[in-house]
Amino acid sequence: MVDPTEPVVLADQAVIDGLDHWRTLPIAQQPPWPSADALSAASAELATLPPLVFAGEVDLLKTRLASAARGEAFLLQGGDCAETFAAATANQIRDRVKTILQMAVVLTYGASMPVIKMGRMAGQFAKPRSSEVETRGDITLPAYRGDIVNGYDFTEASRASDPSRLIRGYHTASSTLNLIRAFTQGGFADLRHVHSWNQGFARNPANVRYEHLAREIDRAVKFMMACGADFEALKRTEFYISHEALLMDYERPLTRIDSRTGTPYDTSAHFLWVGERTRQLDGAHLDFLSRVRNPIGVKLGPGAKASDALALIDKLDPDREPGRLTFITRMGATKIRDVLPELISGVAASESTPLWVCDPMHGNGLTTPNGYKTRRFDDVVGEVKGFFEVHRELGTHPGGIHIELTGDDVTECLGGSEQIDEASLSTRYESLCDPRLNHMQSLELAFLIAEELSSRQ
Ligand code: PEP
Ligand code: MN
Repeated sequence: MVDPTEPVVLADQAVIDGLDHWRTLPIAQQPPWPSADALSAASAELATLPPLVFAGEVDLLKTRLASAARGEAFLLQGGDCAETFAAATANQIRDRVKTILQMAVVLTYGASMPVIKMGRMAGQFAKPRSSEVETRGDITLPAYRGDIVNGYDFTEASRASDPSRLIRGYHTASSTLNLIRAFTQGGFADLRHVHSWNQGFARNPANVRYEHLAREIDRAVKFMMACGADFEALKRTEFYISHEALLMDYERPLTRIDSRTGTPYDTSAHFLWVGERTRQLDGAHLDFLSRVRNPIGVKLGPGAKASDALALIDKLDPDREPGRLTFITRMGATKIRDVLPELISGVAASESTPLWVCDPMHGNGLTTPNGYKTRRFDDVVGEVKGFFEVHRELGTHPGGIHIELTGDDVTECLGGSEQIDEASLSTRYESLCDPRLNHMQSLELAFLIAEELSSRQ
């Protein structure tokens, strides 16, 4: 087994003070890599491959997030719970990007503000697990940790951790990002197309409730066109990528020293977040992320206290840099109104300006009697509403949402205007991890949030 405290020597990389300090700290949720040599070879190869993102883009995102924290923009972050290599196809990538763009138009109208579009895409391949192993019948095997570590098939060979998957993860992220860049810069993201897709949603009789808002957006777009508006921002859009920074053997070799500033950036994505299970203050993940210049998110569950948030601010944002820190709260629909106010008020005196984002997915999981891991659309909506209410009462900014979604017509979450029920979950349940909102449920959520946002103006 590989000793994670043993430094892997990375070719061509300057040793930056403290960047590898995480290796001396306790580290959660790392795979049991079988061979030190194979891991070293994969790390060394990753370290020679080109960065996926450029530090200048990362800095630009930070300024966008800073404006969201000031209440002048809104973050829409969405994508699979776990991307898979098999689903990195042109059509599936296109449909996820399309769903995010469609939601963003509705939210832009509702908020009358720019929407920062960010995929849980092009690197969301590694999953934290609540158990190291999975048992089916009388067979126990290592848990599935995401395609970048092992396979989902329930066989010994497939469940063995394989460092060559790190390289495949990089190449899959790279081709996914390439297509995202092509779509969002090459005309696919044109507001006029996106708007016409949304009209399809609004014409569906199941969505008659949103007809009024859809008609208002249509009039706004027609007004712009009548005025002859034809500027670049209608045709192209910024689109950022993000994932949970879980697997240090992926994040560290993709961390590079920016030649402009001499400082380290994790170039595996623009934005990285640390999960609820790996945000230990004295742990490896936070130490590493405290030393890279990317904007960083931290998930906060219902057990988080104001003192935890303050300690996270000191660790990750000692300079109180606007846009640096995002708190992604995932409390559950029944808890958010009780737990969130204390956190927000508790950090008020810290002079930090974190961006507050609502993840209405991870506090609302349930398992149906027929064995499906699911979430109720109404609970998702309920948590988002609670998030807005709390911010309204405190006079602070609800800065964004973080959603597990797909562009496909899957049946993984209950409810929504198509009224997916327990019996229909089996029709098309494809997620290997958490259940995602399907295309229609995602758009419906955007319309509901847009109503919420426009009522605040
Ligand atoms: C996730 O975002 O898929 C996840 C595991 O979240 P959390 O860390 O909030 O549990
Ligand atoms: Mn998840």
